[in-house]
Amino acid sequence: MSLCLQSECRKLLSHKGEHDPYPSSAWAFMGAKDKDKLSKAGFATPRGGAKGAYQNHVLRSNKVIVPYERFRQAPLESYEDGYVIRLFPYQYFDGPGKVKADFSLPGAPQIGINAFVLYRTHDQLVSLPPLPEWRIRSLALNGQPVSERIAGAVDSGEFVLRIAALGAYAARIEGPPQGIFAPEYATENTNYLAKCMLAWLTAHTVDSPYVAAQAHHLQIILQEAGLFHPVEWEAMGLLRSGHTSCPLCMKHIKYAELHDQISFAEENSLLNASEQVENSTRSTVVNLFHLVPLTYSDIEHIPQNVAWGHAICNTKLGQRKCYPLAELISEGAKVGIVDETGVISTFGWIAQNLEMIRSPAGAVWIRIVEDHLSAEEQATIADFLEQYREQ
Ligand SMILES: [Zn+2]
Ligand SMILES: [Zn+2]
Repeated sequence: MSLCLQSECRKLLSHKGEHDPYPSSAWAFMGAKDKDKLSKAGFATPRGGAKGAYQNHVLRSNKVIVPYERFRQAPLESYEDGYVIRLFPYQYFDGPGKVKADFSLPGAPQIGINAFVLYRTHDQLVSLPPLPEWRIRSLALNGQPVSERIAGAVDSGEFVLRIAALGAYAARIEGPPQGIFAPEYATENTNYLAKCMLAWLTAHTVDSPYVAAQAHHLQIILQEAGLFHPVEWEAMGLLRSGHTSCPLCMKHIKYAELHDQISFAEENSLLNASEQVENSTRSTVVNLFHLVPLTYSDIEHIPQNVAWGHAICNTKLGQRKCYPLAELISEGAKVGIVDETGVISTFGWIAQNLEMIRSPAGAVWIRIVEDHLSAEEQATIADFLEQYREQ
């Protein structure tokens, strides 16, 4: 079995029909539920929701919104499908009609060209109103207005309204969605390869209804892209003894967990999570998992960084890197308990930056708050504790 590779085609050699660099035929052997889960993994999650002028239910390879406060750190040149900078009125104006001096400097965002202003409240609209010549953002294709962001559609206008109703004031939702959440961006090619990776891992879950031979097309696509490294995946924790595993807790992932919904008890612990998606139905037990968190500074939805992991583990991990055991052993340090006589019993390895400890038996400790007290504050606490003990 080998790939066609004509015009970068990833279909199998001597295939019928047109060449295709991104053929879904590689996972055609899967059931509808699995295909659906893969396709969702290729979509940007509407985390900010419509109120941030974000676009829902679209592929990751789409125009992104870069918040002005992230503009300097975002990898702008990597957004192959375009970007637009979002500013709040207070970021752009010093007062009514008074644009901040920063925006006349070279390289500053230009409203209406590569940036827009988002109004979220009636109050903002009154206190820092749009400039007289500004228009609501709109989309056009060949000069004709369109309502969807389709290929070739061009944005114009300077501002967008996402204002909720307040007392006697009605809601005002004007201007189309401007793009997706930038940290979720992926090019069409990386998005496709990430899907291949996830499909391969689906086929290798415990009790999966598929056999390894069915995943062979996926394997050669990943091999061709230099991405097929099962031994490395074992060291990274997304595979264990040939079966898919959760990179955080290292438990094997059962096929059914890809589709079973989490229990109500587990759901309660997810409600606190910042990643909880608005209006979403209950989460499945196992979800898309990024080994390195998605950030504004890099593009991290890449095949080398995706796995299937427990929704609960994802929540516990938060915006932290999931350090593999192998990495802690090779780069971290041993940690142990010192008893009264000075005897040390080691029980795990800690990351160099002290963010995570793992035991070889699977336990994980995560630092949830960093050191932040001054020497003076620490001394005050030490004094208090001394008095407290004496009482
Ligand atoms: Zn072909
Ligand atoms: Zn887990």
